[in-house]
Amino acid sequence: MTSRRTLAIALVHYPVLDKEARIVTSALTSIDVHDLARSGRTYGCSDYFIVHPVEAQRALVTAIVSHWTEGSSAKRIPDRKDALAIARPVASLEDAIAALGPGTEVWATAAQARSGRDLLSFARGRQLLSEPGPPVLLVFGTAWGLAPSVLDQAAEVLEPIVGLDEWNHLSVRSACAIALDRLCVRPPALPV
Ligand code: SAM
Repeated sequence: MTSRRTLAIALVHYPVLDKEARIVTSALTSIDVHDLARSGRTYGCSDYFIVHPVEAQRALVTAIVSHWTEGSSAKRIPDRKDALAIARPVASLEDAIAALGPGTEVWATAAQARSGRDLLSFARGRQLLSEPGPPVLLVFGTAWGLAPSVLDQAAEVLEPIVGLDEWNHLSVRSACAIALDRLCVRPPALPV
């Protein structure tokens, strides 16, 4: 992996959309805490912010993280401790941005490209990450995706991950892993 700007990930539970495109707060999915932490750790992310406005949900994140970093599971599966160590519950996306410092750039993700918004290609994103610059916060949604306000305020919106046809509604766990791989790892120069 090339040397790189600080890269962090965030999983947003508010503001996100529901099936009717209303702004809602989604419930935490505990496997998301583990899976995105493991992907983030694999690709050298400095932090994995779990954004939730409800204090009880943040307390649940804290309980999961401490169980796997200090509790019995830390002894049983030490590797997971390294991954969960980057997980940080925060009340808002603004708190995550503030934690990364001034100038932090938000790069949002979505399965559907929004009209009227230039998209950042993974190739260009990889290039930007390899050049000096402020921290990048790669933001993922839950429920039916990030609210338009998050996409509108983002410095960049990444191109959607596309497979064989237009059906591309990935789980957030899969989307995070694929996006990080495309942003952080030069295509392997293995002989064909
Ligand atoms: N409950 C669902 C789950 O378990 O995954 C949450 C789905 S949530 C809408 C999926 C999130 O993953 C999106 O907000 C976006 O951040 C990302 N995502 C999903 N499919 C994607 C794609 N094709 N390209 C880019 N990001 C995608």
